[in-house]
Amino acid sequence: MSKGTEAVRASGTPLRVLLEERETRILDKRAQLSSRSRGRLRSEEECTLRTAFQRDRDRIVHCKAFRRLKHKTQVFLSPTGDHYRTRLTHTLEVSQIARTLGRALALNEDLIEAIALGHDLGHTAFGHGGERVLAELIPEGFLHNEQSLRVVDVLEKNGRGLNLTMEVRDGIVKHSKGRSDPILARTGEKAESLEGQVVRLADIVAYLNHDLDDALRAEILDPSDIPDEILHCLGNSHSRRIHVMVEDIIHASLEENLVEIRMSSEVLACVEQLREFLFEKVYDIPRVRVEFERVRKIIEDLFNVFMKDDEVFGRELGALDGGVSRERQVFDHIAGMTDRYILDLYKRLFLPRPWMKF
Ligand code: MG
Repeated sequence: MSKGTEAVRASGTPLRVLLEERETRILDKRAQLSSRSRGRLRSEEECTLRTAFQRDRDRIVHCKAFRRLKHKTQVFLSPTGDHYRTRLTHTLEVSQIARTLGRALALNEDLIEAIALGHDLGHTAFGHGGERVLAELIPEGFLHNEQSLRVVDVLEKNGRGLNLTMEVRDGIVKHSKGRSDPILARTGEKAESLEGQVVRLADIVAYLNHDLDDALRAEILDPSDIPDEILHCLGNSHSRRIHVMVEDIIHASLEENLVEIRMSSEVLACVEQLREFLFEKVYDIPRVRVEFERVRKIIEDLFNVFMKDDEVFGRELGALDGGVSRERQVFDHIAGMTDRYILDLYKRLFLPRPWMKF
């Protein structure tokens, strides 16, 4: 038994309190301490074993929306190849990169992990294509970061939500406004905590690198297509490029005494160039646009049938919820579906069924 474990047994102090004390000893003074959390939407008794942010992380890992991430597209729709990223593996890569940053900067890794694991819970099926179609279907629009917050606040646990801390909620909703958003967030749109800002940059580091890797795997790109300036500045392998970006964020943020989490202007310029390159050669190419039109048709057809057909609505969604509009209920339902669930449902509702009796 370690000395630490003996101390816990002997003192009778809840482990959570000892962990909170440890945070004050080892974290930077700008880190968000769990003992200083602004609390939850509904107040709850603290756990004896875990800090508030550890508890939030566990709630996210145990929720249904988290499990659905494994069947949601990252970039390539319902890929049959086992090595392509899904929204779940993207989330895990973000979490690992963010925790490396957090440990180097002596920030609260538990808060970072909770925000990272929850940041994309509101992502639709079919990646950003699905998000765009839904955004056109309702007047108030649709952003996946806002839907992530809605998932944890309202939709999980049959309408009760996960009741997460304010710091995790803030980090989730401010992680991004979409791909055209500037890499360094505008003042006023940044997460309140440095931990939230870490996740925002880790998300960008993760997706730029793994989307490039997946595009090479899919042979949409050839390694010789990557511009020399990008290779020169960021390195000529997947792991090297992640390393360069992570190291740069650590140094640039420490240079400014952790006033904010940032990149140096030189690396930022290369990262922006890489993003432009991916838009031009991967995200917005004719092959992707053809798929997008198919995704649009599927989502629009489902939306219309749920809005107009009471029988289908009742069978698939259950009773109408008096608290929100039918439109919102349909919208939340479709936004939560995985790629494969949507395709199966579409087949079930709209395609003729083969006659199986011989
Ligand atoms: Mg993400």
